[in-house]
Amino acid sequence: MERTFVMVKPDGMQRKLAGEVIRRLERKGLNLEMARVLQLSPQLAQEHYAEHREKPFFANLITYICSGPVLAMVWSGKDAIALTRMLVGHRDPRQALPGTIRGDYANTTTENLVHASDGPQAAQREIQLFF
Ligand code: ADP
Ligand code: MG
Repeated sequence: MERTFVMVKPDGMQRKLAGEVIRRLERKGLNLEMARVLQLSPQLAQEHYAEHREKPFFANLITYICSGPVLAMVWSGKDAIALTRMLVGHRDPRQALPGTIRGDYANTTTENLVHASDGPQAAQREIQLFF
């Protein structure tokens, strides 16, 4: 059983798509273990996205992710990390396939509705950061 961290970002919450994200992960057979609505402080946001600190989009990313409440969640299941990444879809809206969350709902690279851990180390780190 693998655990991963998934977060509905501020644009997803504002567009009332949190239920849609949960529905898709549940229908895939994944288990919702923990959930929490919160608004990120700049400090927590910078820690969460530390790997992107040097990127040109970092300041915009922090402003965006702190702009409203998010839904932070822990999901579990066999291959939970790979499965959630697949359901979320590609970061680039031009490459995100229809049928994925981003493919169906996102049209910008920054405001893309949902975050999902990209590996076991990230999952463990992000779960500890939020729960
Ligand atoms: P993912 O969320 O698919 O793991 P990354 O880890 O590469 O993608 O990036 C983290 C987040 O930073 C993205 O989800 C997106 O919100 C933002 N982002 C990534 N690359 C860009 C970019 N080139 N321009 C603007 N925002 C970006
Ligand atoms: Mg990432």
